[in-house]
Amino acid sequence: MFKKILIANRGEIACRVAATARRMAIKTVAVYSEADADAKHVHACDEAVAIGGSAPRESYLRWERIIEAAQATGAEAIHPGYGFLSENEGFAAACAEAGLVFIGPPASAIQAMGLKAESKQLMEKAGVPLVPGYHGADQDPELLKREADRIGYPVLIKASAGGGGKGMRAVEKAEDFAAALASCQREARNSFGDAAVLVEKYVTRPRHIEIQVFGDTQGNYVWLFERDCSVQRRHQKVLEEAPAPGLTEALRRRMGEAAVAAARAVKYVGAGTVEFIVEQRQGEMNFFFMEMNTRLQVEHPVTEAITGLDLVEWQLRVAAGEPLPLKQEDLRIHGHAIEARICAENPDKDFLPATGTLHVYRKPPATSFQRATVRFDDGVREGDTISPFYDSMIAKLIVHGATRAEALARLDEALAATHIVGLATNVQFLRHVVGSRSFAQADLDTALIQRESAALFQQQPVPVELAAAAAVAKTLLGEQALAGVDPFSRRDGWRSHGVATRRFEFSFAGHHLKAELATLHDGALRLAVHGEAAPLAFRRTGEAIELRYGDRSARAVVYTQGETDHVFTAAGAASIVSIDLLAHAGDDAAEGGRLTAPMPGKVVSFSVRAGDKVKKGQALAVMEAMKMEHTIAAPADGTVQELLYAPGDQVAEGAELLRLAA
Ligand code: ADP
Ligand code: ADP
Ligand code: MG
Repeated sequence: MFKKILIANRGEIACRVAATARRMAIKTVAVYSEADADAKHVHACDEAVAIGGSAPRESYLRWERIIEAAQATGAEAIHPGYGFLSENEGFAAACAEAGLVFIGPPASAIQAMGLKAESKQLMEKAGVPLVPGYHGADQDPELLKREADRIGYPVLIKASAGGGGKGMRAVEKAEDFAAALASCQREARNSFGDAAVLVEKYVTRPRHIEIQVFGDTQGNYVWLFERDCSVQRRHQKVLEEAPAPGLTEALRRRMGEAAVAAARAVKYVGAGTVEFIVEQRQGEMNFFFMEMNTRLQVEHPVTEAITGLDLVEWQLRVAAGEPLPLKQEDLRIHGHAIEARICAENPDKDFLPATGTLHVYRKPPATSFQRATVRFDDGVREGDTISPFYDSMIAKLIVHGATRAEALARLDEALAATHIVGLATNVQFLRHVVGSRSFAQADLDTALIQRESAALFQQQPVPVELAAAAAVAKTLLGEQALAGVDPFSRRDGWRSHGVATRRFEFSFAGHHLKAELATLHDGALRLAVHGEAAPLAFRRTGEAIELRYGDRSARAVVYTQGETDHVFTAAGAASIVSIDLLAHAGDDAAEGGRLTAPMPGKVVSFSVRAGDKVKKGQALAVMEAMKMEHTIAAPADGTVQELLYAPGDQVAEGAELLRLAA
């Protein structure tokens, strides 16, 4: 076995490979770009080498530099992860020339499967079923059009060199073919430097079912069952699971054997995936070869979960020349696993990728009780940024259960415990997909997201009343903690003759919201949201706030960022923004660094002390006047110099309450 390997990748997959290497007592070398100098994967490895600028072509794609780094550190082999150089036959060949082991298939196998059209010609010879289509070398537009007419519409035009869901055009009818072809060729040339396309029958409502295969240098092959990756957006996978619901044992075997035949045809070595498109017709399933991915796949953990194997360990063993650890008859499926890809993106804006800082990044507790597991694979830490340079995937959440229903319930629970604040993510969207009728009933096909869209997009899982109650509770708890006083259990007389009321205004899901909080004689609270009042009670339990509001109760974890409270409950997450009622009064009052009382009244509490640094909009003090409470907020960032009154003091309008320095 190797003593030291270099991992030519970043993010979660670099951390994933490093974890297995560590377990096998193999030393690891990380490579990193400028943007990744302090990245998690750098710390996950024993050594690290800087390889250049932030853009991939200045670092993670510079293979000469990476080979130099391997030689300089004495690494014997290079693991390419997925993406970047993993399917670059030039890199695989260069490793061999430099005397390094490329942990992946031989360059010849990468090349044979690299272009979709050529690989289909090979598969045809190997007897692997293909989608009816044209995958010849002649790219004459007239010929392509004739082929499309022959296949019958709808057809799919695909860039032969394409990948990652790019370079595909579905064509509904003959008249649209020419324009779609031109646009597909343009995208193919720009994205992949190769305008060649193929044309295939567009399978309607298909499933994407792929087979994990493994080969060794002695010519042994096994297939490690299937993964159903039908839940997709923009032809990219969102959820993946194993085994594929409804797949019969007979069909599983036929697909497995076809996948092994595909691998054998190109003398494949190591981990690979044969992707099939599955047509569902009158209860029958027909599978067709789509492409082979000659690398470890993003979704390999679901296979690990159902087989109990470590596929990276298998890759390392095979690359070191060992035979496959198990034979086909030793392999079994245990239970059910599902993976969800957590991405920095905005599902409500057509999945637009998002960048930003992970201000809050809380993962579900990882569990491993027998086979009931929650696994969270990532390459970031709280405080890290998701930059525009790399993929938008933040993490992968993988769950395993005895049955699909159990795995599904566990996935939902784990997603609920995934708290990310600072940038848009698809976590809530994933929960909606997981909870959708189609997914729950395993009614799977690549149009699932489209079909269920009404239930998936623009959803507000937290009722407005609960969001407001959580924000109010968070404010009050924050004031108590900061000031060391509890404004609602005070017995100093200012409220003993009646009810004190405090107004709040919020912006929630694009709506303006007014709320009024009343404190009764006995200290009990009543909150009115939109005029409707109900009792409010809450207490802090650890990180969460136990809320009871009217007949609703919830356990909420609330993270405050500036004026926004991010509320996470079991039902889902929402953001509610506090509107500072006295923002304008505050602006005037703050002239010359003074903060003055906007009206005559009584000082209820200060939530800051002299010396505290405050942010614009942060609550500084609460005043009471006309039975209403008013929050005085900082008009700008600054430092509190002095508090000029004490709680309970009566002040005149215009009185200076505290001094703030810029
Ligand atoms: P798979 O086919 O492995 O399930 P996809 O095809 O959806 O996954 O995505 C894999 C591709 O996405 C890679 O080939 C790569 O281009 C890109 N990719 C995804 N995540 C990353 C990452 N963390 N680093 C680099 N490339 C990535
Ligand atoms: P990529 O290299 O981008 O992964 P694939 O050929 O694997 O491209 O196709 C990606 C996805 O596009 C598939 O998972 C499937 O959802 C859809 N797709 C591909 N071929 C067809 C087809 N013939 N009919 C319908 N959908 C298809
Ligand atoms: Mg694919």
